[in-house]
Amino acid sequence: MKLIDSHAHLHFPAFDIDGLAVLQRARENGISLITVGTKFSTSVSGIAFAEQNDGVWCTIGLHPGHVHDHNFVDEHEESVSEPTPEREFDAARYETLVNHPKVVAIGEFGLDYSRVPDGMNVEVFKEDQRNVARQQLQFATKYNKPVVIHCRGGATADVTGAHDDMRMLIAEEIHRGGLERKGVIHCFTGTANDAAQYADLGFLISITGIVTFGKSVAEAVKMIPLEQMMIETDCPYLSPVPLRGKRNEPANVALVAQAIADLKGVAFDEVARVTTANAIRLFGLH
Ligand SMILES: [Zn+2]
Ligand SMILES: [Zn+2]
Repeated sequence: MKLIDSHAHLHFPAFDIDGLAVLQRARENGISLITVGTKFSTSVSGIAFAEQNDGVWCTIGLHPGHVHDHNFVDEHEESVSEPTPEREFDAARYETLVNHPKVVAIGEFGLDYSRVPDGMNVEVFKEDQRNVARQQLQFATKYNKPVVIHCRGGATADVTGAHDDMRMLIAEEIHRGGLERKGVIHCFTGTANDAAQYADLGFLISITGIVTFGKSVAEAVKMIPLEQMMIETDCPYLSPVPLRGKRNEPANVALVAQAIADLKGVAFDEVARVTTANAIRLFGLH
């Protein structure tokens, strides 16, 4: 494994037509990947995809974007008529999936304060999100899995506010004696200081193609040690420059690694070696 795309959605409908060809391109470039669930139906389909393909592992969990009603459907993600929103993390249902040998983490779950439903009280909204995140932190502890965290601020709370809340929840669970295997903050867009505070909790951060978009993540990446870092595409979303706006795919994780190497002034192979070792260790891959 030369590179590991630590967060992809290769089992989403965006890849229905050519997913295996996309996977082949990744393999030709020495890239393995974790394909990430976002609700019950995509957790089930992620397992099926990982089961059929070597070098692919998966996660199960409920994304904060599926906790409330929302007035859009992401056709790259949802083609099945699974009831959405799920509102609560139904542990009994996810328990039927968690012991599958390809399931390497719980997630993606967390806090997304960027889309408050019309007319909903912001504090109630945020508390609902924290509750569903808490349920999944406890679930990860119970099954001794690492966690894949999605954390994003919004108009009503800056990103640091969301990170403050997320760190509080993680610290609470660690204080309870949980989260032995820790986890990762995926698609990290916080500051170097945010990253350092996650490091204190034993958490990694993972960098997407956003590092090629502009200044703020790039500045943070210069400061964050490689030893705390993984890389990801979050495909089909977030294609790095020069492919921005096109459908993303795991092969492009090499562009993320190159961008980090350039920013830090280190060799591509060094970024590959350290981020791959971090992913193998966190997810227990072999
Ligand atoms: Zn996410
Ligand atoms: Zn994702």
